[in-house]
Amino acid sequence: MKKGSLNRRMTLLVIRDAQQPPKQLQCSTAAVILVPTLVIASISTLVIGLQIRSSHIISQMETNLAVQSLQMEVTVADKDAAIGRLRREVMELTNQATSIRERLQRVTELEQQMQQFIRKHGKSSATSSSKATMTPLSWDASGHNTGGELITVHENTAMLTRQAMDDFQEIESLLDTVERTVPRSIQQANAVQQNLEQKQAAQLLQTRRLALAEQGKPSAWPVGSRRMTSSFGYRSDPFTGKSAFHSGMDIAGQTGDPVYAAGAGTVLEAASSGARGKCIIIQHPDGLQSWYMHLSSMQVTPGDRIHKGQMIGRLGSTGRSTGPHLHFQIVKHNQPVDPLLYVQ
Ligand SMILES: [Zn+2]
Repeated sequence: MKKGSLNRRMTLLVIRDAQQPPKQLQCSTAAVILVPTLVIASISTLVIGLQIRSSHIISQMETNLAVQSLQMEVTVADKDAAIGRLRREVMELTNQATSIRERLQRVTELEQQMQQFIRKHGKSSATSSSKATMTPLSWDASGHNTGGELITVHENTAMLTRQAMDDFQEIESLLDTVERTVPRSIQQANAVQQNLEQKQAAQLLQTRRLALAEQGKPSAWPVGSRRMTSSFGYRSDPFTGKSAFHSGMDIAGQTGDPVYAAGAGTVLEAASSGARGKCIIIQHPDGLQSWYMHLSSMQVTPGDRIHKGQMIGRLGSTGRSTGPHLHFQIVKHNQPVDPLLYVQ
């Protein structure tokens, strides 16, 4: 377009109403072209700006969404891991509880053994204190402290399971000790009891032996020879030939043969007298006496304590005797009795 045509003026006729006269507006051609162009350009610019802005906002929202979804994924993964861990811990706790229940059962059995032992042997020792101190084992978990600050459920549970596991470990170590020591204690107690019983039995036997020895009843054959030449009772007297009572038994032997005490006792007499010759009388318990006559020698004196089988003298033929022999006699409450009732 030429510059001249732009400077040309244009007339705009504005008709408003049929009753009113039209208005004439005079303006240049440039204005008529420029004004709509400017309006169109500004509208375009506005639309483009809006488009840019909205696309920017959308991309920002997309970015935010991606970040949030990533965070959620991480959280979910965390929770899955925590749940897995908790499940494993719970399994472990269940196993430990089972193991502890079994061990408590064993400890209870051991305790029952100890109680049996105490019942069996406690009466003789008469120590009521040991019974009083033996109380049945029990485990009271009601006093266990829980709680604290308010934290998420799974964290709290994890803390509780960890505490429970610690408690279980402590209990298990205690049970280890108890299981190790209790059988050994029972064994030791049994050994002590057995030893005591053996000692008591030995003591009883010894006491009986001593009592029997102290009873000192004549029971041993008094000389080496066992050849009896005359028994207790009525017989023909070797000196007179008449029937006479023989108050003991005659045992043949050699002069000088050792003569032994038939039982433990005290020498009542050791003297020489007419008919008996050298004669020893030993006093035994229960009013019993043993007499040894016609000895060639005597090795004890009245009052001597004599034990059974002790040599007290030697065989001879002193007194009223026809040859070397031992006249052995048992007297009970001052009455001669058959010696064969005592010595064999
Ligand atoms: Zn005689």
